Amino acid sequence: MEHLTIEKIEVTALNIALKEPITISLGTCHVAENLIIKIFTGNGMVGTGEASPEKTIVGETQPAGFEIAKLLATTLKGKDPLAIEERIHDMDRAVQGNPTVKSAFDMALYDLLARKAALPLYRLLGGGNSRTIYTDMTVYLGSPAKMAEQALTYKNEGFPTIKIKLGTTAEEDVERIRTIREAIGLEIPIRIDANQGWDTVTAIKTLKLLEPFNIDYCEEPIPHWNNADLRRVRDHSPIPVMADESVFDHRDALRLACMGATDYFNIKFSKSGGIHNAIRINAVAEAAGIKTQVGCMSESRYALTALCHFAAANKNVVYYDIDSSLSHAEDPVTGGIRYMGKGKWVLPETPGIGADFDPGFLDKMKKATI
Ligand SMILES: [Mg+2]
Repeated sequence: MEHLTIEKIEVTALNIALKEPITISLGTCHVAENLIIKIFTGNGMVGTGEASPEKTIVGETQPAGFEIAKLLATTLKGKDPLAIEERIHDMDRAVQGNPTVKSAFDMALYDLLARKAALPLYRLLGGGNSRTIYTDMTVYLGSPAKMAEQALTYKNEGFPTIKIKLGTTAEEDVERIRTIREAIGLEIPIRIDANQGWDTVTAIKTLKLLEPFNIDYCEEPIPHWNNADLRRVRDHSPIPVMADESVFDHRDALRLACMGATDYFNIKFSKSGGIHNAIRINAVAEAAGIKTQVGCMSESRYALTALCHFAAANKNVVYYDIDSSLSHAEDPVTGGIRYMGKGKWVLPETPGIGADFDPGFLDKMKKATI
C-alpha cells in the first residue's frame, strides 16, 4: 500500500460576517472568527478542516488558535496522516487542551482518509444516508417581543423546532417563553438553552415555572463546573436537562453519566477536539442510555457538513442543532450540505467531507504555511 506523508500544512484565519450580532447569556458575537487547516500530502492530496473558537465557552480565540495551529502543524509534519489515533496522541502530547483548534486538524485528517478511501465521510464512519437531518433554528437573547417576532418568522419559514436562548432572570425568562408561545402557539416543539446563566435555585424555580409551555429540554441551566448541582436540577426539574458546556470529551461524558446528572449530551467538535472524540462521547452516551444532540458554535457550512456526516453515522444522535451558517451573511463554501428550506439539510455523496472553501474568499484572509 502506498505510504502517505504530511508534506505541509496551511493555516488560515477565516472571518465571516453575520447577518446581525447574536447574543447569548455569556456575551455577544459580531463576526465568525474561525480557523481553517489544510493538510497536504506528498502525493498531492489535500484534507481540509474548520474550527470555530468560542472564547466564552472553550477559552480559545482565533489569534491564539492560529499560533497553536502552527505548533501543531510542526508536530505533525512528515508523519502518516491516515494514522489518526496516533496523530491525535501527537497533538495531545504537544499541547494540553485547545480542543477547538485540534478539531480542525482532526477534521482535515478524516477528510483525507475518506478521500483516500474514495467514500463520503458518513460511509467511512459506517453510516447510511437514510435519515433526514432537520435542524432547529435559534432565537437569540433579546426583549420578549423581539424574540417572539423572530420565533414566529422561523415557524413561518417551516423550521420543525425552535431553540430559544435564555439565562437571565426567572421573571424575564418566563416572560420570554410566555410571549413566544402566545405568538407561535403551543404545538411546535421548542427547546431552551440557559448557557449557564442561572444559579441552582433559579434554575429549579424557572424550569418549574416553564412546565406548562411544552418544552422538550433545557441545555446547560447552571455553571458548567457544578456537576453535583446539575444532578439536583435534573432531579427537581419537570423539563429534561441536556449537558452542553459541561461535556467536552468522553471523560466528562462518563462522569456525568455515572452521576446521573443529565438526560442528554450536546456533542460539538469544538469541545471534543473533533470527530474521533465525538465518536467516543457518543459511545459512552449509548452505553449509558443517553441520547445525544449535535451542535455548533459559528462554523461555516464546511464544518457543519462534517457534523452531518457524523450524525448520519450514529443512530444515538437524535437531535440536530446545525444552524450557524444560516446566521452568516456570506457563504464561503463550495459543495457540502445543501439547504433545502424548512430546516432540511442534504448530505453530499462526493468522497471525503465533500466540500471545500472558495479559494477567492480565502485569498483575502491571513495565512501561514508550515
Ligand atoms: Mg448550548
